[in-house]
Amino acid sequence: MRFVVTAGPTREYIEPVRFLSNPSTGKMGFAIAREAARRGHDVVLVAGPVSLKTPSGVRRVDVSSAREMLAAVEAALADAKPSDVLVASAAVADWRPAGCAKSKLKKRNMDGVLRLVRNPDILRTVKGVRKVGFAAETGDAIPEAARKCRAKGAEMIVANDVAEKGCGFGTDTNRVAFVRPDGSVERLPLMAKSAVARRIVRAVERGAKI
Ligand code: C5P
Repeated sequence: MRFVVTAGPTREYIEPVRFLSNPSTGKMGFAIAREAARRGHDVVLVAGPVSLKTPSGVRRVDVSSAREMLAAVEAALADAKPSDVLVASAAVADWRPAGCAKSKLKKRNMDGVLRLVRNPDILRTVKGVRKVGFAAETGDAIPEAARKCRAKGAEMIVANDVAEKGCGFGTDTNRVAFVRPDGSVERLPLMAKSAVARRIVRAVERGAKI
């Protein structure tokens, strides 16, 4: 089976040295890519700017912005079969500056207003393959995850509360729930991201046999 995994943050440049981003470290996505490769799958990892080593047996494509990430995902899925899987674990910036200045802006020339435009939603845009998404929320992530699952055409959303201790950005552990479009929920205990990755890859493998 082919896995295309997105991981890490994106950077949306305002000008050559300033950008909008978020604290994603890519740990969850890299763990999924590592586990899928270990289990013999063909894995392409589309990574935003992170400082993690490429897991062995994984093809890695480095990108910066959301638009670059979408292009790399579409290229990786160019000859995709319906049985291939997109696992979207990247924390993609929803907005980017309306324009990127050619040279560094001077403080005295800035007026404190930054115009933003929406970025493409990668998970929603990609069609014709199986899709697994993530939902990082502060507070109860489950109802929001079920809605997202249906809206984005995913077969499963991995939901987690990033405000909870030991969860979310930069941690080595995570407590997640698998939420399906019919609203069914499978809650997992707090565990290492590597163990969460194993459960996700196995859930995807099981889904292929149905
Ligand atoms: O709607 P929200 O951003 O919370 O959805 C999260 C899910 O959608 C994640 O799987 C994330 O990787 C994906 N996503 C995406 N492109 C975006 C925004 C989110 O692929 N622009």
